[in-house]
Amino acid sequence: MIASLLYCSLAALPAAQNPLTTAHHVIFIVFLFLLGASIGSFLNVVVWRLPRGESLSHPPSHCPNCNHKLAWKDNIPIFGWIFLGGKCRYCRNPISPRYPIVEFITAALLVGYYVIFFLLHKGPCSPWFTDFRNDWPAFGLLMFMICGLLAASLIDAETFTIPLQIPWFMAVVGIIVHTIIDDPRTLRGTPNSLNVSPNSIAGPLALGGGIGLIISIVLFLLGIIPQSFAEGEPALEVDEDEYQKEVARAKAAGET
Ligand SMILES: [Zn+2]
Repeated sequence: MIASLLYCSLAALPAAQNPLTTAHHVIFIVFLFLLGASIGSFLNVVVWRLPRGESLSHPPSHCPNCNHKLAWKDNIPIFGWIFLGGKCRYCRNPISPRYPIVEFITAALLVGYYVIFFLLHKGPCSPWFTDFRNDWPAFGLLMFMICGLLAASLIDAETFTIPLQIPWFMAVVGIIVHTIIDDPRTLRGTPNSLNVSPNSIAGPLALGGGIGLIISIVLFLLGIIPQSFAEGEPALEVDEDEYQKEVARAKAAGET
């Protein structure tokens, strides 16, 4: 549905030199809301399964109480929960409102940033966002980072940890996308540029950060600096106990 909506909206677009109309902005906003809600639905899976070491794709979505596989209509972001009245279709156990809330927050973030960048032209990135037709790759990368930070924050709030896969994945995607979209011939010293030119401050900053990272990895491998929150340290054991109690309590209350 989202893909066909995007196709229709792109097919209806005027040529790049013509300005976008209000109708086009509305189509983009509806598209970003649906896309954001779907991403939020995936973030719910990430936030629950990643810290528990479970696969993100298997098994398919199921009720944590009765284990019944969910129908496609139960999986519709935000509206699936509303249609079900916040209860499992099969065992009538309550489903936590955190799922539609996370889906709505993700959708609102994508729409909000579109409005701020492309309609209000506000914020530190606004000089580089003029037309969604040209600037969607950089906007998409920023939204990818926002979603990664949201998932990390939600896991952090629940477990006091951030799985390393999240910052690793974000860093790799960021470097790959910038390598593709940053054109050295057209760069205007943008904060998203990877080129080390006299006009770009991001290149030297990234270089400095990279050197610092390499030094800290070498010091860690030589055993000169310890791992933060190494497993088995007293503080972590207390948190882990509390965390397991909280999981058991939430399971008993049917909130999971
Ligand atoms: Zn159920």
